[in-house]
Amino acid sequence: MDLFSCLSPFVFCSFASGSSGNCYYVGRQDEGILVDVGISAKQVMMMLKQNDLRLENIKGILITHDHIDHVLGLETLTKSCPIPIYAHSDCLGGLAEGKATKGIDHSLFRDIEPMQPFQLMGIKVEAFPVMHDGRGAMGYHFDYEGHTLTIATDIGMLDNVVKTYLRRADSIVIESNYDTEMLEKGPYPFILKQRIAGPFGHLSNLESARFVAECYHPRIKNIMLCHLSENNNTPEHAMQCLYEQFRKKQVIVQPNTSVFPLPRHKCSGFVYL
Ligand SMILES: [Zn+2]
Ligand SMILES: [Zn+2]
Repeated sequence: MDLFSCLSPFVFCSFASGSSGNCYYVGRQDEGILVDVGISAKQVMMMLKQNDLRLENIKGILITHDHIDHVLGLETLTKSCPIPIYAHSDCLGGLAEGKATKGIDHSLFRDIEPMQPFQLMGIKVEAFPVMHDGRGAMGYHFDYEGHTLTIATDIGMLDNVVKTYLRRADSIVIESNYDTEMLEKGPYPFILKQRIAGPFGHLSNLESARFVAECYHPRIKNIMLCHLSENNNTPEHAMQCLYEQFRKKQVIVQPNTSVFPLPRHKCSGFVYL
């Protein structure tokens, strides 16, 4: 068996992750789905090209919520290629009114119900609600021939629904937004600090790490930390916090598990799920 036939046919790739823009690719190596388009259409095109992918081979775009760091390039991208946009109806309502998205052709909108699985290119997709102050905020769970992935970004707190979907996957993308001390001591106004740390804001390194360490099992292939804050976090802080929790819970991370933060502006390269 050669190396390539051992690799999973189901891949994930991060084009951008963080408060300055989020965009992920999920699918096979030749065609797939985008999750969020929070970077410019030009940047998306660059990232696709870098990975030998073509816009024509993007069969759907899933949106987590209507905040600008998740939808910035959506209008321009879908003007150059009419790709169906899947989101909660509240989020679609937000897109129809949003400054950067109100020009999107509404015939591309596909309203999806949380916890109602549907098929997209042979991939079973299931959305689930998350606590966040964007409209119709949802995470996504994917299952392709038994290879599973859950993406949970922009979450104020980990409730049982999110935990269930994260536990179900062998690869996870989980928010690790801020270091508590950096946020507290940082320059943000008090009201913004409160919003970020509140139940409809973002997940701290510690909240994320505690859960990951608690639910770790040797079958987990990839633990990817996403949406790291530029001002209130560093990849080192996020990773250090996670490994501290692993130590505390006496978790021994197996050699088959990759643990890494997703880069802010750079492409992660293909991650085999
Ligand atoms: Zn958000
Ligand atoms: Zn965001």
